[in-house]
Amino acid sequence: MNLLDYLPGVPDFPKPGILFRDISPLLANPTAFKEAILQLESLAKQFDYSHILGIESRGFIFGAALAHQAHKGLALARKPNKLPLASHRESYGLEYGSDSLEIQQSTLPQGARVLIVDDVLATGGTIIAACQLLKKAGFQVAGALTFLEIAGLNGGEILNQKGIANKSVLV
Ligand code: AMP
Repeated sequence: MNLLDYLPGVPDFPKPGILFRDISPLLANPTAFKEAILQLESLAKQFDYSHILGIESRGFIFGAALAHQAHKGLALARKPNKLPLASHRESYGLEYGSDSLEIQQSTLPQGARVLIVDDVLATGGTIIAACQLLKKAGFQVAGALTFLEIAGLNGGEILNQKGIANKSVLV
């Protein structure tokens, strides 16, 4: 099974020049989705982590399924103004715009070693912001795991240079 077949590229979405990877066909096929989570779980074993941080919103899908499969706790990095309790915020640039993420201070226990999970790694900006958030909140970053790294943008290398261990199922 070639999982990349379940992530068709949509040209020029949401902006001209971007080849957007649509995860909908993967999610709609139970065999492909299960295989994707098993492959993520297999890579996750290379990290020493206690909790997963899923990034809104497609990182929630992979992060939650992986947390369930690997029996780890899950925390959510959310878009601004969604969290009810005291939170930290970090703003960052995207391949196609800019955004902010927040995490709630009280969600994770002290000493948590957190594996960041998202669907796609492009420039690395989102994961770098998630790292900074976790550090601001006093947690340790175990690394970052994505389902697909977009080839040619060097996101994995950029994260390596910043000392953020990272793996992707597909490149
Ligand atoms: P970046 O911060 O540049 O690494 O971008 C990664 C984030 O943006 C992830 O949360 C992805 O869901 C989303 N993203 C960026 N580029 C793409 C793409 N070409 N296809 C699908 N999602 C993307």
